[in-house]
Amino acid sequence: MSAVTLEQQLSAYVEYLRDMGVYDLYHRADPIVSLPESLREKPSQSAPVETRTNPVPSFTSTVSQAAATSVIEPDAPAGFSSSMAKPPCLDLLAPLPTHIIPVADRSAALAAVQAEIGDCTRCPLAYAGRKTIVFGDGDPGARLMFVGEGPGADEDASGVPFVGKAGQLLNNMIAAMGLKREEVYIANIVKCRPPANRTPEFVEATTCSQFLVKQIDIVHPEVIVALGATAATYLLGVKQSLASLRGQWHSVRGAKVAVTYHPAFLLRDPRQKAEAWKDLQRVMAEMKLAAPKRPS
Ligand code: URA
Repeated sequence: MSAVTLEQQLSAYVEYLRDMGVYDLYHRADPIVSLPESLREKPSQSAPVETRTNPVPSFTSTVSQAAATSVIEPDAPAGFSSSMAKPPCLDLLAPLPTHIIPVADRSAALAAVQAEIGDCTRCPLAYAGRKTIVFGDGDPGARLMFVGEGPGADEDASGVPFVGKAGQLLNNMIAAMGLKREEVYIANIVKCRPPANRTPEFVEATTCSQFLVKQIDIVHPEVIVALGATAATYLLGVKQSLASLRGQWHSVRGAKVAVTYHPAFLLRDPRQKAEAWKDLQRVMAEMKLAAPKRPS
């Protein structure tokens, strides 16, 4: 058996701390992973890291507790106790589709699902101050789909997922992959804003999932990226730490699923962008996507 190196021991210890919800680990060196320009922090000359102001809005903005989504730590959703029933994997919610809907018919198929949702009152979020049902956005023929947690204030106001600060970062992550936002499909576990951006409750997430299943089956993406613990938990039907779900391929509704950090979490802890970028690079390799050329 090969000896465990100090580096492996340290890395296991850091993973363990992350599993315990500890992220404020002091580090001195630059990240080993080279971030693409669009994901890089602009160095702040005057302020220490914790109090840094905002030289590049999309990456270094200090998100207030109230304005950010509820994503604080990347493990099983808050309020999700071990005694709770495991959420069903989306594969169990409906039979897998027997045929692929032609790209030309997908917009109409998605519109039919949206009509079926209607002015939904199926779960308590309907009565919790939601203004808009945020259905989903993007190319119905997309090869790549992102699934987040649920709308925040900006999304509730606009009806479009990921348009606030976390959305700006998601746009930059997509651009770093060499894609345009219009080329991917974006949806959430729940379509209505949870009050005060709290994590969706079990009943809210599992009630709404039936429509996400239909969206996934219609768009038929090759790869789904689960953004954060809530998305991973309810897509995959698992209650595991984000650390243990990252770095491997999962499967849902015939699509390969990669798990990474939620952009709102990355706004709070930009040091994890290098890790998220590793996840996205695995997706790019799987999909044979070439990163955009850096200007010379
Ligand atoms: N956070 C999410 O998870 N989804 C959104 O649409 C916006 C922020």
